[in-house]
Amino acid sequence: MSTITREYSRSPAGRIAYVEGRYLPHGQACVHIEDRGLQFADSVYEVCAIQAGRLLDERGHLDRLERSLLEIKIPMPMERASLRAVMRETVRRNRIVHGLLYMQVTRGAYRRDHAIPQSAHRPTLILTARQLDFAVLERRRSQGVRVVSMPDQRWARCDIKSTALLPNVLAKSQAREQGAYEAWFVDHQGFVTEGSSTNAWIVTRDGILLTRPLSPDILPGVTRAGVLRAAREAGIRVEERAFTLEEAYAAREAFFTAATAWVMPVVEIDGRPVANAHPGEITEELASRYRAFAEAPVD
Ligand code: PLP
Repeated sequence: MSTITREYSRSPAGRIAYVEGRYLPHGQACVHIEDRGLQFADSVYEVCAIQAGRLLDERGHLDRLERSLLEIKIPMPMERASLRAVMRETVRRNRIVHGLLYMQVTRGAYRRDHAIPQSAHRPTLILTARQLDFAVLERRRSQGVRVVSMPDQRWARCDIKSTALLPNVLAKSQAREQGAYEAWFVDHQGFVTEGSSTNAWIVTRDGILLTRPLSPDILPGVTRAGVLRAAREAGIRVEERAFTLEEAYAAREAFFTAATAWVMPVVEIDGRPVANAHPGEITEELASRYRAFAEAPVD
């Protein structure tokens, strides 16, 4: 048995993945070795939070998936309604109450050639779901986390949710080695772009909530959009403008957002405490508003 197979055979019993039209035990789900997702990162992905068995912001994630696919000219692997049915079925078969649903769409498996094959119209679709420990997330949220900054060395189309995540993987690992939870990328002019897997926010000394405006420099976070809406509803002064690392050091509050983290307070940046090193008031207000939205009954 290969190391990989041994690793996956340890995945919790009963975990089911959807791949190439079939629901399979997680340890047996595979793609072809010539899949362009594997060989070229010729693929995009989505991650949806699952709360009480329900997919959060499902429409936002599907809209972004369609957009990412369109930008790199991969066809949707199936109609949206069918995809929604597969998403639900994957959540159901894995009995997820609180967790994450991952979807990867690759251009498919073809004889290796950098150029996109003329016949590339059979994308590979992969769905996996996993349980998240809500108590761990809540504990982390109540204390806040540390971030460290590093140069943004990613490509120029960070608005596409590509699986080419090597710079993000290296940044997150470097952050963890330094005892931090997340890395914040900084562009060559000294402005924070976003986190390695999250969008970055600060509250200035005069109470203005800042996050970088949408552009090819950042991923249009679905959680970011929800939190912007919540902030406006709460009457918080919001500006979508880039902020420098210096402004982040001097901020009254800082946090990041993602489907995997919701609203996560940042209490230290590059070893410097943010304000009093405790989650800030506006951050907590937004975290509880986002939680209320996530836990609201569906009509
Ligand atoms: N920025 C990056 C680079 C990400 O990878 C992610 C999520 O994976 C986000 C931001 C947050 O996006 P969302 O709120 O849609 O999860």
